Amino acid sequence: MEFSSKLLENAVYEMSQLPGIGKRTALRLVLHLLKQPEERTELLAHALLKLKDEVNFCNNCHNISDTEVCEICANPKRDETIVCVVEDIRDVMAIENTSQYNGLYHVLGGKISPMEGVGPQDLTIGSLVRKVKDGTVKELILALSSTMEGDTTNFYIYKQLDGLEVITSTIARGISVGDELEYADEVTLGRSIINRVPFENSIKAN
Ligand SMILES: [Zn+2]
Repeated sequence: MEFSSKLLENAVYEMSQLPGIGKRTALRLVLHLLKQPEERTELLAHALLKLKDEVNFCNNCHNISDTEVCEICANPKRDETIVCVVEDIRDVMAIENTSQYNGLYHVLGGKISPMEGVGPQDLTIGSLVRKVKDGTVKELILALSSTMEGDTTNFYIYKQLDGLEVITSTIARGISVGDELEYADEVTLGRSIINRVPFENSIKAN
């Protein structure tokens, strides 16, 4: 792509570093911003900088939060004996949208993926195991996407919990293997949480 302006080229380059944004889309977005009043760009830049600067992660579940403990963990109406283990905040949002789940969450921050150099120590698995050892948690629902990385992560967590008194279940998936959790429709996802199955059964089924 040939640019008549170095300023334009830089802006397009930075925009194209975002996931899913190719050079053409980046150019379209940058030209769009250029046509907008200056305060639009200022508001966008300010919101992003402020987010990066001030964002917190919940001490308990590692969800993104404006406070030390997130609204979900702080809500006394939620059942703290059930914890749903998810990959990231998008999964929390997807499950919350179903209105079928009243327990807490644990956000891992990714999946074990040797290909991408992500090991168990890069995720919040240690704090999950400590939480279970504390004894409040009675059931853990593993709700990772049914990809190879998701299965590996589920199995690793299951092994770490060996000998601890906790029921481990996995969401009954009505969606095909490889579908990411956030793309499942709300009805299917809600039903799959209600109809969850013991994790042992899901290993035997494979
Ligand atoms: Zn929380």
